[in-house]
Amino acid sequence: MTEIKKLIADSLTKLRSVNNKEMLESLRIEISGKKGYITQAFSKLAQVGANEKKEIGAELHALKREFESLFYAKKEEIELKDLESKLKQEKIDTSLFYTTNFVSNGHPVYQMRDMIIDYFVGLNFALQDGPFIEDDFHNFEALNIPKYHPARDMQDTFYFKDSFLLRTHTSPIQIRTMENTKPPIRMICTGATFRRDYDLTHSPMFHQCEGLVVEQGDHIGFAHLKFILEQFVKYIFGDGVRVRFRSSFFPFTEPSAEVDVSCMFCNGSGCRVCSYTGFLEILGCGIVDSSVFKAVGYKDVSGYAFGMGIERLTMLKWGINDLRSFYETDLRILEQF
Ligand SMILES: [Zn+2]
Repeated sequence: MTEIKKLIADSLTKLRSVNNKEMLESLRIEISGKKGYITQAFSKLAQVGANEKKEIGAELHALKREFESLFYAKKEEIELKDLESKLKQEKIDTSLFYTTNFVSNGHPVYQMRDMIIDYFVGLNFALQDGPFIEDDFHNFEALNIPKYHPARDMQDTFYFKDSFLLRTHTSPIQIRTMENTKPPIRMICTGATFRRDYDLTHSPMFHQCEGLVVEQGDHIGFAHLKFILEQFVKYIFGDGVRVRFRSSFFPFTEPSAEVDVSCMFCNGSGCRVCSYTGFLEILGCGIVDSSVFKAVGYKDVSGYAFGMGIERLTMLKWGINDLRSFYETDLRILEQF
């Protein structure tokens, strides 16, 4: 028993200088584990006499308490030390520059598209859609552009076999809408269109927006068209701009007009961008030609149509001078929007 008490006392001395979890645990097993010194001592207590038992028992209980209070104090000390070193390793340097997690605003062309859609949907125009691959009838014939018509030269078309083609404008969506719906129609459509063209202001793929209003009877006239488009141009470029309608030619409208906005770069006084005219052309429009209505089987109706290039509006709105920068995925440009 004297020997065991000495072993316990030695272990307690060791326990005082322990400084890591592993050593602490092995000392715990050595002193108070299933075969530890204290456990052994208590089991040997049965062999001693009744008088000694009381005395030694009390001594063992005192040692056990001493061990326990020492053990828990050490455990807390070591855990605190471990936590502190862990926190030191996980330190965050708040002075580092914040360089990640950019928020996307969407491509500038799509921002412009959404602005246009917002305006016309607000006026109760329905949004329509159609296929990229079109047939000759919907892209040309029904729009009063028969084969060998000079207007076909205005549009350098990508052709497939059997007179299928990539749509050169969004106008076939107007034809398809009229084929599937009875008047009144009040629609817009936006989407990618394709032509063989590539320079500062042309791209083989670009986006258009077109609108069409058709009603039974002959009461839809140019005044309606002019009002809607004037308001639209001011919505896009601000109340300060002036809007001008200039007579023009399109196969699918008669009469036709091109719409100009006063140059926002020189405020109409003339500069390089507007070729010193003070105006910039932004869209085409007109009263729908009767031959278009005939192609879709409409009788006794009247209506107007308009169309614009979304890239062109985007370039003018935000002062971008090279259309190709929209498709070069250069983040230094796109991130500015
Ligand atoms: Zn100008």
